[in-house]
Parts: sequence; structure tokens; C-alpha cells
Amino acid sequence: MGKHTVRFCCHHCLHCCTDVICLPTPYDVIRIVRETGENPYRFLEFLQPDEITGVEKSDPTWLRVGKERYMMALRRDTKCVFLDMRTRRCRIYEARPILCRLYPFKLRETRDGAFKAFTLHSDVDCPRHRDGVAHTQPLYDLYLEDSRHQQDYCDLVAVFNRRAYPGKKPEDFIGMFVENSKDI
Ligand code: SF4
Ligand code: SF4
Repeated sequence: MGKHTVRFCCHHCLHCCTDVICLPTPYDVIRIVRETGENPYRFLEFLQPDEITGVEKSDPTWLRVGKERYMMALRRDTKCVFLDMRTRRCRIYEARPILCRLYPFKLRETRDGAFKAFTLHSDVDCPRHRDGVAHTQPLYDLYLEDSRHQQDYCDLVAVFNRRAYPGKKPEDFIGMFVENSKDI
């Protein structure tokens, strides 16, 4: 095990779909809309700082509306809006956000930023069962794709945050990319 594989098998305990807030990128949202027809105004919510932990105040994906700030997230009450409790499976599995695909894997890099290996996060409360094998190349490809998406996300948020107009709402951010998504 090491560079090419990591020992892991998901046992569907549902922790990551019930206790963890999923933060999709606009690309994730567009994919979900295109592949499932779900309404982003229904499956997204915008959380204020007291509703989410682990996101730095300086994070560039905070949406600013007046003096308030908001983080785009998949809607949840006691669970993610896409978790089917009857089957205990994700309803949009093939279109799920990259973050869900990468959980609970953690990238390790060399000092000069080259890929070293994937391990399992120790701080995300996944039971981290080791009775399986996951290949790291697809994970690394996903990681690189997500890194590119995160940069575009930050750029789009910066445009949104510069805008000031009466009645501005965090939900207006959705219109900035979903309605223009044919170009992406
Ligand atoms: S927390 Fe870990 S074992 Fe549980 S459902 Fe998520 S990935 Fe699978
Ligand atoms: S989108 Fe699917 S995999 Fe991701 S948190 Fe929701 S139910 Fe779980």
C-alpha cells in the first residue's frame, strides 16, 4: 500500500451524509442540475458563520451581502437533502459533489508540492475501515479537478461580493452560474 492504493472500504454508516456539511462548488451544482434535474434553489442553502464550523473567516468562498456572510452548502436538516433513508444511499450518487467522492481521503504532498500518497483523514469521524482497497490515481485526478474548480469558485464569489444592489440575497449567487452554465 502507499502511493498507488490506500486501504479503505466504506461501510455506509452514513456519518458523512448526516453529520458533515457538504460544500459543493458551482461545478458540482451545475452537474447535479444537468444530470438529475433537481432545483438548486431547493437543494442549496446559505449558512451563516454560527451555523457552520471549520471554515476560516478568511475563506474566499464566503458570500458577502451587506455586513453578513454566507457559505453555500447542500441543504440538510438531520441529513443531507439527497440521502434516501429508506435505501440508506445517496439519491444522486453518480452526480454527487467532488467533496463527497474524496471523503475521507486526505492528500499528502512532498515538500515541493508533488503528489506523495493518500491517507485517511483522522479528524472527520469516519470509522476508517481498512478491509478494502482504493486506487489513488482516480482520487488524485478528482483532487486536481476540484482544485481548478475551487479557483473558479473564488473568482466568481469575488465578482458577487463586489456587487451591491437593493434586495441582494445570497441565493442570487446561484443565478450567476446556473443560468450561464451552457458556456461551462
Ligand atoms: S463516514 Fe466513512 S464509512 Fe461512514 S459512510 Fe462516510 S465514508 Fe462510509
Ligand atoms: S450528496 Fe450524496 S454522498 Fe454527498 S452528502 Fe449528500 S447524500 Fe451524502
